[in-house]
Amino acid sequence: MIIKRFRAENFRNIEKCDIEFSPGVNLLYGKNAQGKTNVVEGIYYFSRGKSFRGREDKELIRFGCEGFRIFAEYESDVGRETLEYAMFGKERLRKKNDYKISKVTEMIGSFKAVLFYPDDLGLVKDGPEERRGFLNVAASACYTPYIKYYSDYKKALENRNCILKMMQKGLYIDNRELQSWSESMAEYASHIYLFRKDYVSRLSKYAGKILKDISDGGEELSLCYESGISEEIEDRAEVKAEYVKILTSSLDREIAAGVTLFGPHRDDLEIRINGKSARSFASQGQQRSIVLALKLSEGEVVKEICGEYPVFLFDDVLSELDERRRQYVLSEIGERQIIITCCDKNECVGFTDNEIEVSGGQYVSAHR
Ligand code: ATP
Ligand code: MG
Repeated sequence: MIIKRFRAENFRNIEKCDIEFSPGVNLLYGKNAQGKTNVVEGIYYFSRGKSFRGREDKELIRFGCEGFRIFAEYESDVGRETLEYAMFGKERLRKKNDYKISKVTEMIGSFKAVLFYPDDLGLVKDGPEERRGFLNVAASACYTPYIKYYSDYKKALENRNCILKMMQKGLYIDNRELQSWSESMAEYASHIYLFRKDYVSRLSKYAGKILKDISDGGEELSLCYESGISEEIEDRAEVKAEYVKILTSSLDREIAAGVTLFGPHRDDLEIRINGKSARSFASQGQQRSIVLALKLSEGEVVKEICGEYPVFLFDDVLSELDERRRQYVLSEIGERQIIITCCDKNECVGFTDNEIEVSGGQYVSAHR
């Protein structure tokens, strides 16, 4: 997948821009606070259907304006495609190939991108929530029904927690109500579990090899999806039955806690390096290598499942990598498409196909 053009109007600090990208390595460079990440944010919006930093779309509107518009033209296996999103007050306009679409879920899924930004560097050391977030984003890009199952799961979980809280306070609850939410949770959880399990086994295949390539000592990486469900169970109905069993057997503890203690919202992705927990033992350099390996593998899994490589968006992370890893990224992914942001363009010397200077929300390509 290759993004050819990105246009924006009144988006963050961009009054108006029209940027053309090349296949290969595209570099957006410039001083701090000029609008490099803003472009990455705009492009990635089409992949996730929301911003990766703002909580609300209205934060994306240029200060003093009433709405914004973003547009992307890209080439996929299907041919040339376009996506457009605009908001003005309460109005939302979404278009795919010039036809209006009503739901954000119809927008996501066509344009594939993998984002790597500085917050990701905490993936190894941070808490399980970060790794669940990684799994959710990555799995939703690969399995279309994932988002729906996950949001249904969250709703069921909220309702079940509400009932547990009431029971904790000694209020009378009809047991059938709790059972019905447990049943729904188990149903959605079984789908989420199987998607995540499949995803992690694919990811692990690539990540191990990439880490070996980029690490000095040929380090061994292993990934394990931790869920409390026995690994041998593969049949969905059996996975669901297992969740029902766990939820029933832990009810007393859950009433005491007032929350649901088991399920995909508590899972983790265990990362081991040379047989030891990376969270506890990986050095700074090892953590960076592991996250880089995970991000590159995320792209490989998209290719494996969806048939083509995503666009790689590397925001401000190149300077965090040492020379050897930087070169690996630039030469290995350079054959696909990558958009990199950094302050110092010398970091990419000799590798770029397109250099765009960014200053005050203006973008000037060296090719023009
Ligand atoms: P750095 O190198 O520090 O990461 P950057 O070039 O990536 O910088 P951006 O994050 O793209 O910078 O932000 C550029 C500018 O956009 C910042 O000065 C920020 O304050 C400004 N900005 C953010 N949101 C808005 C908005 N809604 N309206 C106008 N300007 C905004
Ligand atoms: Mg930035």
